[in-house]
Amino acid sequence: MGNSDTEPATGRHDPDCVFCRIIAGEIPSERVHEDDQLIAFKDLHPQAPVHVLVVPREHRRDVTELAQQPDLLARIATVAGEVAATHADGEFRLIFNTGASAGQSVFHVHAHVLAGGKLAEGAL
Ligand code: 5GP
Ligand code: ZN
Repeated sequence: MGNSDTEPATGRHDPDCVFCRIIAGEIPSERVHEDDQLIAFKDLHPQAPVHVLVVPREHRRDVTELAQQPDLLARIATVAGEVAATHADGEFRLIFNTGASAGQSVFHVHAHVLAGGKLAEGAL
């Protein structure tokens, strides 16, 4: 909540957002990657042998908002590939649920990286 188009493009933090709280270290997570722009951590309810969420540190609602920063969006794909190579065989599915009817439940953009096994059609 609390995000509008008038908010600044940098430095956003939403104290009510579970992923902002994970990024701030207020909620524990099992991190597998972190850099100045992104963190990646294991999903609490894994849907595949490897199920990692790649999340920008700055609060953005969804992938369409993140698309305003194409370099950051591209970095998510790069980090997803690194996670899949480190924790599985390098092959992976990358999913951005966008909107509640599409399954988005946390409105801080995140890419699901699913890897490590034969993935069923329609997973997630
Ligand atoms: P969405 O449904 O928004 O695409 O994905 C949200 C994901 O975040 C879900 O797969 C859910 O299991 C995960 N998740 C929600 N809360 C937490 C949490 O506190 N810690 C971790 N590691 N994952 C969470
Ligand atoms: Zn957030």
